[in-house]
Formats: sequence, structure tokens, C-alpha cells
Amino acid sequence: MESSESTKNTIKKIFADYLDKHAMRKTPERFAILDKIYSIKGHFDVETIYNMLLEDNYHVSKATIYNNIGLLLDCKLVTRHQFGGNTTQYEKSYNTGIHNHIICTKCGMVREFTDTNIKRAIQNKHLRDFTIESYTLYIYGICDKCKQQEEAIMAEKPGKEKK
Ligand SMILES: [Zn+2]
Ligand SMILES: [Zn+2]
Repeated sequence: MESSESTKNTIKKIFADYLDKHAMRKTPERFAILDKIYSIKGHFDVETIYNMLLEDNYHVSKATIYNNIGLLLDCKLVTRHQFGGNTTQYEKSYNTGIHNHIICTKCGMVREFTDTNIKRAIQNKHLRDFTIESYTLYIYGICDKCKQQEEAIMAEKPGKEKK
């Protein structure tokens, strides 16, 4: 694992090179967004970044954030997730390691897990005319908290039939 300081420098360089290559301006906003994203542990949406920048007195429009996340997706510094809620969630992807996600369909809770058997199975899978770069599994279900709540509601209404 790289130190966080050298990771910071590496991601900045990847982004700067990308902007150069596409003749885009290297504005401080772009790097502030990148910096914020890499300070977050776990998943985030555009709203989260927007509010974090506001707290730092950085007024960057949501359109600008969207736009820059698009660029970061393109240079593979960020990945996009659809966990089933209404908002698209993102995650930093440099040096983060492959992991899977379990998602509660009731409360939207997302948790990560890794599994060497799954990893091996996918790495050993030969897909025709295709090179695997990365993967993630989404496993949908109900978390224990929601399950307990549901059971408590059921217990309160003994007359009601279970769905
Ligand atoms: Zn839940
Ligand atoms: Zn994740």
C-alpha cells in the first residue's frame, strides 16, 4: 500500500495528465473536488461533495461537480454505483481494492465485503474476447435492523397476515 501522501500525489498526477491530454483547464475547483472525493471513506453522492465543499467555503455548482466526476470516471479514479436508491453513488477507485457490496432494499444500507473464493472464481473465468479489469457484486437483501423492525411490527398486529 502506498502512503496517503504519495497516493494523493499520484491521483493528482493522473488527473492533471488527463486534463492536459484533453486540453482542459487545470482549475483549482477540479482538484478541490478530487481532494474531497479521496478524503471520503466509502460511498458518496454529488450532494455530499457539494456540502463538504460548502463547509470549506468553496462554492462549486452541482453541475460542475457532476461534470468533474464524469472526467474522474473516465480516468478511472472514481467508480459509479447503482445501489437501487434514487441517487447515483460513487466511490474512489485508485488503490482501493476489489470489493463487493451488500445492499438493504428497505433502508438503503450499503456494506462492503471481500471474499477470496469469489475473487478467485472471477479471475479464473475466461470470457471470450474480453479482458476483465475489475468487478463488483451487488447482493440485495434485508439487514438485521430492518428485519427486527419488521418482526416487531408483525408482533404488534397479530391479526395481520404475513406477506
Ligand atoms: Zn435495512
Ligand atoms: Zn464500495
